Amino acid sequence: MEKYIPDIYQKSIYTIDYRKLKENGIRLLLFDLDNTLSPVGEDEPTDKLKKFMTELKEEFEVLIFSNSPRKRVLNFAEQLDIDGIYFACKPMRKKFDMVLREYKHEENEVAIIGDQLLTDIVGGNKVGIVTILVNPISTKDGFFTKWNRHKEDKIIKKLRDRDLFTKGKYYE
Ligand SMILES: [Mg+2]
Repeated sequence: MEKYIPDIYQKSIYTIDYRKLKENGIRLLLFDLDNTLSPVGEDEPTDKLKKFMTELKEEFEVLIFSNSPRKRVLNFAEQLDIDGIYFACKPMRKKFDMVLREYKHEENEVAIIGDQLLTDIVGGNKVGIVTILVNPISTKDGFFTKWNRHKEDKIIKKLRDRDLFTKGKYYE
């Protein structure tokens, strides 16, 4: 069950202690897009998100790392003025490895921030980077995510029964 357990669990991208991440040597942040940065079906980043990303970019390298298609990911990447990786195929490790190579970072210098155990957290744990789970922004999910959520609910229940992870009990 360890592969499902995030290193850090926070309510949203805005409640993460980025200063602490930096102190712990994190240099590159990979952000999931759907329901992490923006609700599904929304095409414009909020002003709050734009401002936040501008601040974050002063301290870290920042990337969108999303399973969503090219058009959606690059639209957000352009508006936030950061790089975007689309069709990341999380939880497969191929594109994680590609990012580590291309951006020249060791595993312990990279963190992934996302709302799904089965893609963001499992993928990140597989490659050995820091994994940060946040609650989904919206209850509306994409087609494949709906399917994943069903499985995720069962896993979360198992984790809770074993006292390994409880939804709403934030930690870092
Ligand atoms: Mg997501």
